[in-house]
Amino acid sequence: MRFPIGDSHVHTDHSVDAKGTVHEFCQKAFEMGLYEITFTNHYEIMPSRKDRMGYFMIGGEKVPAGPDAVKRMIEELREAGEHFFPAGLKVRVGLEVGWDITLYDRLAKELREFDLDFVIGSVHDIDDEPILERAYAPQFFQSRRIEDWIGKYFKKAEEIAESGLFNVIAHLDVYKRYGLAVYGDALRTAHEPYLETLFAKMKASDLALEVNTSGMRHGINEYYPSVAILNEARRAEVFVSGLGSDAHAPDQLALDFESAVALVPEILPCDLEEGYGV
Ligand SMILES: [Zn+2]
Ligand SMILES: [Zn+2]
Repeated sequence: MRFPIGDSHVHTDHSVDAKGTVHEFCQKAFEMGLYEITFTNHYEIMPSRKDRMGYFMIGGEKVPAGPDAVKRMIEELREAGEHFFPAGLKVRVGLEVGWDITLYDRLAKELREFDLDFVIGSVHDIDDEPILERAYAPQFFQSRRIEDWIGKYFKKAEEIAESGLFNVIAHLDVYKRYGLAVYGDALRTAHEPYLETLFAKMKASDLALEVNTSGMRHGINEYYPSVAILNEARRAEVFVSGLGSDAHAPDQLALDFESAVALVPEILPCDLEEGYGV
């Protein structure tokens, strides 16, 4: 990396859909010259997600997602942080929460208790149907018109802002991943009626926007969100928090960051006092 930048969205093998230990990710981050790595494993506690994503891998065991598992994972991640910090890599511990309004009370209590540096809110479901899982998503989009679901997607994004529980909203137009193949270019402007309200709520609640580069490995050749949405966010004075690769394996870390950093100039120069080259 030519710049001291961090990756703020990374899944280790504590997430059931990811590969690579925390040490392997830290080693890779160190080799790449990243300043910081933020681990944000999945916390999926909706009943409809339980069978597939409602787990953590802890010590080689599949453990139901819940406070005990999260606390054990945080301990492991903090230990790795201590190990790599003297070498100049700052390790932050976060969580990526699959949002649903029915979880508000539980999340409000639990997130206060967890020792976290960073919490991502994500829309992964609409009407209890997963929109990002390969086994379900294509069928979800093929059986619906855009107008059947897009308003519900942005309603959930607004709820993430209004909840006040999160630092950042992830991959804002990630429905492109499986939706573009079904709807084509019509999907590229489907967000337009919803941005003004969403961004006003994000600004009011200090919820930042993530630039997520995983679209580059999903074969859609752009980030989440698109540059058009990012420009609207800037006009609305929404804070753009930084770059996340959404890596689910060490070789996906900081994917395309050398190019993506140009979109998020406010992260340069980052705070050099802690952990980077001193
Ligand atoms: Zn996500
Ligand atoms: Zn993720």
